[in-house]
Amino acid sequence: LLVASNVRKHYGGVEVLKGISLTVNSGEVMCLLGPSGSGKSTFLRCINHLERIDGGRISVAGDLIGYAQRQDKIFEMSPREVARQRRGIGMVFQRFNLFPHMTALENIWAAPVGVKRVPKAEAIERGKELLDRVGLAHLAKAYPAQLSGGQQQRVAIARALAMDPQLLLFDEPTSALDPELVGDVLDVMRTLAADGMTMIVVTHEIGFARGAGDSVVFMDGGVVVESGAPEDVLDNPQNPRTISFLESVM
Ligand code: ATP
Ligand code: MG
Repeated sequence: LLVASNVRKHYGGVEVLKGISLTVNSGEVMCLLGPSGSGKSTFLRCINHLERIDGGRISVAGDLIGYAQRQDKIFEMSPREVARQRRGIGMVFQRFNLFPHMTALENIWAAPVGVKRVPKAEAIERGKELLDRVGLAHLAKAYPAQLSGGQQQRVAIARALAMDPQLLLFDEPTSALDPELVGDVLDVMRTLAADGMTMIVVTHEIGFARGAGDSVVFMDGGVVVESGAPEDVLDNPQNPRTISFLESVM
């Protein structure tokens, strides 16, 4: 579903992504690991064209992200086209950026109604189903400030799902949570994975990567150092950098 080939990105003179190539098949979960500053968030942002890449290409379902090719020339897409592509790619961040003045349910139906022109009654019904799916049906009318971090994050996941994305990106979705709230969010993500959602998850939760991941990619210094099946990369890492990183987080 997602193919990244030789993706490069620099800020000023600093090359942050030095040719990232990887593939995520439809229905698979890829867990992306790596030390701070290795370029994980930057790579996720490139998939959404929140960052413009300087080299290589990224495609989702055969659709080149952010660019259009005509004859031999590559053109940057119009903001409208970029917005269309982004609608198919959900993103859940470390900090739950829910709209504070909207209830949990309103947070979920707002975008389908405002952006996709889904009839409001239909979007509200769907929103309720999604809240139920993340175990929060009883909190439909709560405002974000009244929810725990873990509950807010589950609403954020439901909100992303409301747009029917073909791909979901998670950037350390549990690392800002109190430890006792992490499990509920990971359980929701495991359910999504089991239901066949295609996901890229930046996480330090090795247990999640081992259990729910179809593949694990270890990045360091803007390159993919090691990748493969979770049992290979996590339990039998070959590269010294992978080994020392895993020792530091396990
Ligand atoms: P973390 O685990 O801390 O979230 P990360 O792997 O997500 O790290 P990135 O946030 O992608 O790393 O950052 C990679 C490098 O790019 C870092 O050195 C960072 O300082 C740099 N960087 C990221 N965004 C920008 C920016 N907008 N301008 C300049 N440098 C940036
Ligand atoms: Mg990051």
